[in-house]
Amino acid sequence: MFKLSEEQQMIRDTVRKMAAKEIGPRAAELDESGAFPHHALETFAENGLLTPLLPASYGGVEISLLTFCVILEEIAKVCASSALLLIAQADGTLPILHGGSESLKEKYLSRLGGTSKQLTALAATEPSAGSDLLSMRTRAEFRGDRYVINGRKCFITNGSVADFFVLYAYTDSAQGAKGISAFVVEKGYPGLSYGKNENKMGMRGSVNSELLFEDMEVPAENLVGAVGDGFANLMRTLSMSRLFCAAQAVGIAQGALDEARAYARQRIQFGKPIAALSPIQFMVSDMAAGVECARLLTYQAAGMFDEGAGDEATTFAAMAKFTASDTAMKVTTDAVQILGGYGYMKDFPVERMMRDAKLTQIYTGTNQIMRLVAGRALLRPF
Ligand SMILES: Cc1cc2nc3c(=O)[nH]c(=O)nc-3n(C[C@H](O)[C@H](O)[C@H](O)COP(=O)(O)OP(=O)(O)OC[C@H]3O[C@@H](n4cnc5c(N)ncnc54)[C@H](O)[C@@H]3O)c2cc1C
Repeated sequence: MFKLSEEQQMIRDTVRKMAAKEIGPRAAELDESGAFPHHALETFAENGLLTPLLPASYGGVEISLLTFCVILEEIAKVCASSALLLIAQADGTLPILHGGSESLKEKYLSRLGGTSKQLTALAATEPSAGSDLLSMRTRAEFRGDRYVINGRKCFITNGSVADFFVLYAYTDSAQGAKGISAFVVEKGYPGLSYGKNENKMGMRGSVNSELLFEDMEVPAENLVGAVGDGFANLMRTLSMSRLFCAAQAVGIAQGALDEARAYARQRIQFGKPIAALSPIQFMVSDMAAGVECARLLTYQAAGMFDEGAGDEATTFAAMAKFTASDTAMKVTTDAVQILGGYGYMKDFPVERMMRDAKLTQIYTGTNQIMRLVAGRALLRPF
């Protein structure tokens, strides 16, 4: 049995209670309105959960990736959109943490410490560059003490609400992956504007924005690491973000399984609870086995990152991501089936969970790309 430490169990139980009291009851309303989860932001900030990976030297609580996964799971169990808020925040923090100079870290990471409600984001995807990120068209040109950036990004989680975000752009497109650099961009920089916020199928309680850059000026000191380091920095962040997505998917699946079990025990058909019917028992046992497998693989990948296992952790994170998200899709679909017609109605949370689960198969690298990442690593050299 995978054993969490006493501290991790205590954090899990505390977050579980907080999520049940503060986050879950607002999930349906958030989904309906498609609004930014302000209440979740307040709750997370008050409890030091908004940026929990932040090192103590910048005012953070500095938990391990495994503990972060446990937290994401508990929140996603009741509201996947609120868990996404934490994932986007980690995505915007890690590139600076991993690649930024001390002065850049001091400038931006210290803004996230304590009970700060400042938001970050990561902006890589473009209309022409999704899975194929090297085909991005955003360009940054060095002019003395600044970079002038032109281009656009799309689908960016927290994009239009972020106080600052990490942006990836070509500084030299002839260099391919080695020609991409990362920059920290602040809300209000001249030349930065916002396009539409997306109207989505699921995870509707999160903001996903189009960002437009027209001769946007970024101080040269906001370069993250060295010129040309951007793609490696992005890949390192994405490999961890896939782990977070896996934890979120485990949470969604567990939430749907809990709903299905509770419903099956109390729904009477043919004079007895449907829980007594073999086909329902088969479905529930497959669902539970899937959730446990996905959780174990996710925790395993998290533990590998925490122990510094590098490339192997990246492979495990990719496997955890596609396993957990495929499991979430299947388990939520089966949960709707177990609830029958009621499962299809918005009065019960499983239809929302099913829509939320779909996104976990798509973002932070689609499951096709995840299988390519893992497959290539497992078969190397070839
Ligand atoms: C709600 C939401 C939030 C997001 N948040 C962010 C964010 O905060 N920051 C950010 O930068 N991006 C973000 N994204 C972008 C996300 O990571 C991309 O949507 C995702 O990587 C897929 O890119 P794409 O949508 O362009 O699909 P495409 O790359 O066009 O893929 C279309 C289909 O082709 C398949 N495919 C593509 N290439 C291959 C291949 N080589 N082999 C096999 N199959 C392939 C894909 O698997 C998919 O099924 C977000 C997306 C969504 C929907």
